[in-house]
Amino acid sequence: MIQIRVDLYSDTKTRPTPEMRRAIAVADVGDEQDLEDPSVNRLQDMVAELLGKEAALFLPSGTMCNQISFALHCRAGDEIIADRTAHPYTAEAGGPAAIARALVRPLHGERGIFTADQVRAAIRMDVVRTPTSRVVSVEDTTNFGGGACWPMERIREVTEVAREHGLATHLDGARLMNAVVATGVSAREHAMPFDTAWIDLSKGLGAPIGAVLASSAETIGEAWRWKQRLGGAMRQAGIVAAAGIYALEHHVDRLADDHVNARLLAEGLAELPGIVLDPANVETNIVVFNIEGLTAPEFADRMLTGFGIRFTTLGPHTLRAVTHLDVAKDGIEEALAAAVAVLGE
Ligand SMILES: *Cc1c(COP(=O)(O)O)cnc(C)c1O
Repeated sequence: MIQIRVDLYSDTKTRPTPEMRRAIAVADVGDEQDLEDPSVNRLQDMVAELLGKEAALFLPSGTMCNQISFALHCRAGDEIIADRTAHPYTAEAGGPAAIARALVRPLHGERGIFTADQVRAAIRMDVVRTPTSRVVSVEDTTNFGGGACWPMERIREVTEVAREHGLATHLDGARLMNAVVATGVSAREHAMPFDTAWIDLSKGLGAPIGAVLASSAETIGEAWRWKQRLGGAMRQAGIVAAAGIYALEHHVDRLADDHVNARLLAEGLAELPGIVLDPANVETNIVVFNIEGLTAPEFADRMLTGFGIRFTTLGPHTLRAVTHLDVAKDGIEEALAAAVAVLGE
């Protein structure tokens, strides 16, 4: 078996720290479905407060946050406006079609970020032949867009167009805390223009499981039915909620370290022959780059089998590296040394 030395595959690869494991071990628990789990209740209150919403709901995954939100906003045959790189469109097994039974209208944004004009142009005319545009979904930071942060101004413009046309607004905040740390704009301000918003606990925040969806009390009440329906309702879930509470208390500010490491990696890679990458585009913990000469799978394979450095292949010539809690600065240096060796071959 290949020994992975530096895992840049995803920030989902983090394992709970010893301190987080202690928080898990001593968690107060109860029956979550009957609202009796004090740790889950506390985590939900924390995220409702963080995102400036009336209520929040603990869910097993970010995927379920997206799918439940779309199910709440859409009726069968409706349309979700999102970037073409958006996670629910590309990486949730066709969930919008299968669960909300909605279409996705993919926009060609720039690194996952689209404009108000693009939204305006995509909103369907209200005639019998068209699907009904129902929700605009924003991903911040953009994942396959390379960890880009939406400027607040753009968020306001895009959500304003949505509201003008009676569409709902959804924030896929899998890495919202990365955007918060990178931009200095609070999570509350980011989430304010959205009807539904969520954060993932199992990405850069380093918890093993879970995500939290926030909205109005009424919407969260309806979201509970979907949680139950999809089998996402749990029992003594405080075991995992405790890790989320720990992450929110201890792992937010340190995301800045991941951003420094990503920039360091990008600057090193950009100097290598065959790598096409503008380090100025690296705003958070994700580095997406292209490669010439070798294919992306060849590069990824040589890095992994030769040096134990793992990247994600996004396309024939496109790769992704993600920094996180379990990658230190010396890991970045090791990855760069390996890339020098591979590209010098
Ligand atoms: C990872 C991710 C999700 C899904 O979250 P899971 O907790 O892995 O289900 C959704 N959106 C984006 C942008 C993501 O990066």
